[in-house]
Parts: sequence; structure tokens; C-alpha cells
Amino acid sequence: MDPSEFRRHGHALVEWIADYLSGSERYPVLPRVVPGEVRRALPEHGPEAGERFDEIFADFERILVPALTHWNHPGFFAYFPATTSASGVLAEFLSAALNQQAMLWRTSPAATELEEVSLAWLRGLLGLPSAFEGVIYDTASISSLHALAAARQAAVPDVRERGLVARSDIAPLRVYCSEHAHSSIDKAVLTLGLGQSSLRRIPVDAEHSLQSHALRAALDEDRRAGIRPVAVVATIGTTSTTAIDPVNAIADVCRDHRIWLHVDAAYAGVAAMLPECASYFAGWDRADSIVINPHKWLFTPFDLSAFYCRRMEVVREAFSLVPEYLKTLEASAGARNLMDTGIQLGRRFRSLKLWMILRHFGAARLRSILAEHIRLAHEFAARVDEHPDFERLAPVPFAVVCFRANPRALHLGAAELDLFNQRLLDAVNETGEVFLSHTRINGAFVIRIAIGHLRTTGAHTRRAWELLSQHTAALAIAS
Ligand SMILES: *Cc1c(COP(=O)(O)O)cnc(C)c1O
Repeated sequence: MDPSEFRRHGHALVEWIADYLSGSERYPVLPRVVPGEVRRALPEHGPEAGERFDEIFADFERILVPALTHWNHPGFFAYFPATTSASGVLAEFLSAALNQQAMLWRTSPAATELEEVSLAWLRGLLGLPSAFEGVIYDTASISSLHALAAARQAAVPDVRERGLVARSDIAPLRVYCSEHAHSSIDKAVLTLGLGQSSLRRIPVDAEHSLQSHALRAALDEDRRAGIRPVAVVATIGTTSTTAIDPVNAIADVCRDHRIWLHVDAAYAGVAAMLPECASYFAGWDRADSIVINPHKWLFTPFDLSAFYCRRMEVVREAFSLVPEYLKTLEASAGARNLMDTGIQLGRRFRSLKLWMILRHFGAARLRSILAEHIRLAHEFAARVDEHPDFERLAPVPFAVVCFRANPRALHLGAAELDLFNQRLLDAVNETGEVFLSHTRINGAFVIRIAIGHLRTTGAHTRRAWELLSQHTAALAIAS
């Protein structure tokens, strides 16, 4: 592509993206396609001769756009938010052009040092002390994997040399988390060779928070049985209900047992910026490591997960491995080589988008957007609470509401109630105006609304409520 052609296509693309970002409401949130539709629309082999970009782009619009789930749609209320922003998109565009590969300081001084600076800014906004060194990974799953790898390294310092297989000299290792901890913690113990049976899930209380006295009892019991506890994962903002584990009490247990404390705040961590949320984060600064995902609720294009660690030297002990051809003198001169703090060698210039977003929005605006999302969630929760045919099933510390319809007049039993809510969710999602998802709480089917998009306003959450209450009434009449 010559420079003039690049300019032409580039300008057209910017036009397209500007329309997309401001007009994603034109599309149904969920695409109306069936499995295999995209695959069948595309040829089995790539072309032998290169094609014109116009033609490729026409197929992008014709085949791919109708099969997109619009995460940027202001009516996207499913799972957790993951919304982009114009400054983040521009940063990604630049990052692709610059193609920085920040394994060593030398291979990109800018990317290496900007990662340090932007994570320090974010750390300051979150109120964490500077003892936490930061590194960017792609996802929270990978951040938590690194946390538990470091915990394993701290517990078994020769694990690097000798592994864990067929060792009679070490007790079985165990990791603890709540019943509601994210599946990425299971995947981490699987990957680290600890086995899923090494993950002990601790019961929760009525608000779905880990019971710290049960944690202490489990650790004592395991020690007596000859098991070696290595880490506890506390969650601030669980995936199902955004419950908050009592981090301070858990930190006491970890201190007494001298084991690693990892805090998974992938979704909710950014809310630590808000003074009104401070109490939810009490004690998280006592953790050994913390993960927060700016790609969830900080308007950062996927992917960017921030990992903070008080003991990054243990992460380095676990992973640093420098082949001769990558040895440089700068490391001894105080330069950080990011390849030492993780599994992967090559790494993208992700800090560029975080830096541009933090600058372009400014802390005040970020705080006010997050606070508005929380306010909208409280407003929605109040509607649920006031309506005789709806009930709320969990507290709302952040911007997710868990609820279900329960039309009084129908006197539905547990199984019928699940079915009713499943039908309600399907009916509401079929409108294309909104997309909500579900979870199960104590076995019951529960609808979740997660508010967190840059362009979501009260009009969108009120419309979601209108659709839910209308379809509840219609389904109740039909049944
Ligand atoms: C979303 C989420 C994860 C996983 O995040 P990825 O970045 O997709 O790996 C882990 N833990 C919690 C609490 C989450 O909300």
C-alpha cells in the first residue's frame, strides 16, 4: 500500500469508526446470526493474488459487521462492561503502526518506561502505596496466574529447578478462595500443576462474601492434615454478584500463616478511585498482589490488565530467564526489562492507551463517569425494590444489579420461576435494544444488569427497566 493509498483508506476508516462509536445504537446489541453463518460466507482458502482494500472492507461491512456483538452499544448490560473510548482507539491505531516490542528496555525504552509511569498514575488514583510495582498483562486470568506462580515460588523456592512432580519432600500445596471466585483461579492452579483439587473453596455469608472465620478454620485443618497452604485469593467484586470479600480479615489470616494474598479486583478495582467506595477496599493495600482490568470499566480497548505486586522480585525469581543474545548492560544501570516479569517474551505497547486515556479524560471525569454508573445502578435497584413483581437478590456496591421477576399472582415454584425468568431474559434480549445476562445464586436463575458503558445514560437503563416490566406483564398474562 503506497502512502497516498494508505491515507485514503485511513481517512475512510476514521470516518467509519467515528460513525460507529457515536451510532452503535443503530445495530441490535446481539447479532441475528446462526452458528456457521460467517464461516460459510467466506471462501475456504485465502487469495493467491492480493486484493484491493476497498473490496476487503466491503466484505467486512457485508459479512462481519452483521455478526458483531456490540460491546460498545449503550444497551450492552451483560457480563461486565468492556467499553472503548475514542482516545483508546487512537492509541491502538498508533500502537499498531509503531509495532513496539517491549521485551527489553533497549527494544523500546518508551514502552518500558511509559508502562511504569502510567501504572504509577493509576496506582495513585486507586490510593495504593508506591510499594506496589506494576506490570501490564493482557487479561486478569494471566495476572492471577502470575500471582499464584509467585506464591508457589515463594513457598517452594526450588520449584524452578525441580518442579513439583514426584517430590516426597514437599507437602501437597493448597490455594484458598471463596465459592464465588472467578474460574480463572481454577485455570491458574491447573496450569501451575497444582491440580484443581488444590483449590479449596470457602463458604460465603448471606451477602456472598467469603467467611474469614471459615477460612481460618480451613487453613488450620489443612495444616493439621499435612497440607501446605500457599495463597488466598480474595475478590473485591465477584463475577456473579459483585460481592466483596473481607480483605482486612483475610489479610490477618494470611499474615498469621505467612502466605500470599492475591486480590482479584478485575472488575471493581477502578472504583477505588471514588471516596464513597473506599470502605469496600479496606485492607487491599496489605495484599501481596492485586489485579485490576482497565479494559473492563475504564474505557480502555480490550485488552489491558494491570497487575500490582509488592514482591515483584518473587515474580522475577519465578520467570526471569535471560538467554545470551538478550543480555544487555542497561539492566545493571537500573533499566527494567519487562520480559523478566512474566511468561511471555514479546509484549505490545499497551501502556500507550492507558496513558492517553488517563490524560484525555482526567481523573475528575473518570470519577464522575464511574459515580454516575453506580448511581444508575442504585436507581435501577430502587425500581426493582419498589415493584411488587420483582425482587433483588444481592446488594449493589458497584454498578451491577442481580434481580428476578416473581409475579405474585402466579405463585410460581422454584423451577417455574427459573423458567419464567429465562423466558423473560430471552424476550428482552430479542428486542435488540439491550443485552442482559444471568447467573445463579443458591441455585436460582437470576438476571444481571451491569452498567458501565461510556455512552450509557439514564435513558438506556430506564428503557431496560421498561422492557423488563412490560415483558414480565406480557409473560404473566400468557402463562
Ligand atoms: C472478568 C474477571 C476476570 C477475568 O478477566 P479476564 O481479563 O477476561 O481474564 C477475573 N476475575 C474477575 C473478578 C473478573 O470480573
